[in-house]
Amino acid sequence: MVKENILKFKELLPQHVNLVAVSKTQPANAVSEAYQTGHRVFGENKVQELVAKYNELPKDIQWHLIGHLQTNKVKYIAPFISLIHSVDSLKLLQEINKQAAKNNRVIDCLLQLYIANEETKFGLSYEEADLLLSSEEFKQLKNIRIVGLMGMATNTTNAAQIRNEFHSLKNFFNMIRSLNLTRGTENVELKILSMGMSSDYQIAIEEGSNMIRVGSIIFGERNYAN
Ligand SMILES: *Cc1c(COP(=O)(O)O)cnc(C)c1O
Repeated sequence: MVKENILKFKELLPQHVNLVAVSKTQPANAVSEAYQTGHRVFGENKVQELVAKYNELPKDIQWHLIGHLQTNKVKYIAPFISLIHSVDSLKLLQEINKQAAKNNRVIDCLLQLYIANEETKFGLSYEEADLLLSSEEFKQLKNIRIVGLMGMATNTTNAAQIRNEFHSLKNFFNMIRSLNLTRGTENVELKILSMGMSSDYQIAIEEGSNMIRVGSIIFGERNYAN
């Protein structure tokens, strides 16, 4: 099932849109099935589960962390993580930078923006993100690179609202990108706009997403809320 699902799903995706197959709560063998189709990019939202799957599965998988990250857990993923979607503070970024340096690497990150009309979602406001990117402390971080932005829309059936939220993030992305061209900050290279999941990826793509994070369409419904 997983093989058919992912092949069919990818066939319909525009070429410029990258798929992160979200394997949270799924067993390693479900990831293997998707892997056998040639897919290499997988997303997890919990550090412990991510590390367990990293240890068990082939080493050419590109693992993305898509869930909230606590500073004291950065060290567990720093040796291998391919992209962190959920950076929401300078303090966290400083810790990622420190652990990346220890591992002699540069870790790619996205800033997570708060775009939803909900209390429960993590992320920076547009103003906070702008302040972070223009701060002196940020410019000193040589072992991280901000390669884009991530946002989650409100969990609603109101398509117009979802579209508005994605649209505003895309506008902010464009603005920050042109600002940064003039600022010339070396650790920023905005190219990824991560928005859209199973329920709203089509709207997200229409609004300019080039990276979607999709779980249930590929792996089936999860057994418990996560
Ligand atoms: C679980 C999750 C997804 C994928 O959700 P689906 O509805 O299964 O596609 C995407 N992004 C984040 C941050 C998630 O936690």
